[in-house]
Amino acid sequence: MKIGIVGLGLIGGSIGLDLRAKGFPVVGVSRQAHICQEAVRRGVVDSAGIDLKLLATTDLIFICTPIGAIVPTVKQLVSHLTIDTVLTDVGSVKTAVVEAIVPLWQNFVGGHPMAGRAESGLDAAEPNMFAGKAYILTPTDATPRATIEVVQRAIFALEAKYYQCRPEDHDSAVAWISHLPVFSSASLISACLQETDPKILALAEAFASSGFRDTSRVGGGSPELGMMMAQYNQVALLRSLSVYRSQLDQVIAEIEQANWTALEQRLQQTQVARPQFLS
Ligand code: NAP
Repeated sequence: MKIGIVGLGLIGGSIGLDLRAKGFPVVGVSRQAHICQEAVRRGVVDSAGIDLKLLATTDLIFICTPIGAIVPTVKQLVSHLTIDTVLTDVGSVKTAVVEAIVPLWQNFVGGHPMAGRAESGLDAAEPNMFAGKAYILTPTDATPRATIEVVQRAIFALEAKYYQCRPEDHDSAVAWISHLPVFSSASLISACLQETDPKILALAEAFASSGFRDTSRVGGGSPELGMMMAQYNQVALLRSLSVYRSQLDQVIAEIEQANWTALEQRLQQTQVARPQFLS
């Protein structure tokens, strides 16, 4: 199975590294010639270029561009493909992407690897990024079974944990565990910056350690990625943010009222619940 990758950044580069390592031939397309050369030099792809026509002979193509560029890329790409070519994308939001691509290409299934890091670009690509992590496909009722099976083959080669759900269910679920954390973590950093005493702020910056590192990581990542989450998953994100705000209001009320019993129960519940999300 010959693999194509459009967008040789963090996710595209990491997919290329692992699939090549598993023996799949990989062709890459980037908008920049020097990235193509670098990707070949680093063993991310066997060959690469700036022309989408290079993917004409591939069997499975991963669209690994930012979310806003996925549909425009597919529109440019499809005229170069044979009818059997399978397309998938790796965008963090699925409903808007799937709805736009299904009318353009029958052999398409949306996908989302739940792996990543704050850095972006080819330099951030690394091997084994997907091993043991969830990789979700979001077929519609019209997606051919064979299309899903082709992408599944690659997902199993990445040693990821395979999941399948409807695009809307994916977006609701990731709003809770991926998109809400970006904005709660960003708000945490913004809140710290509201300290008006420069001496206290300097001390807070000096004292920040593992707790702040853990809780601020996703809020300190790529603004472009956060913007895409908000723009393309607006409804589900707003719902999760509203519930989060109401939880914060309850915490404030419990502390104001010195309701230590309620606060302790809350923290006991969250201590018990956290492993359910991370086991
Ligand atoms: P990235 O490192 O910035 O890579 C994206 C690549 O796409 C860039 O290196 C760029 O390559 C190309 N690109 C940028 N703008 C483009 C445009 N307008 N048209 C065509 N190509 C363009 O980003 P990433 O983190 O890999 O994210 C890629 C996709 O993965 C996104 O859809 C994101 O939602 C999804 N995702 C990200 C994460 C994460 O943690 N970062 C996790 C799961 C899924 P050239 O400049 O070389 O063309």
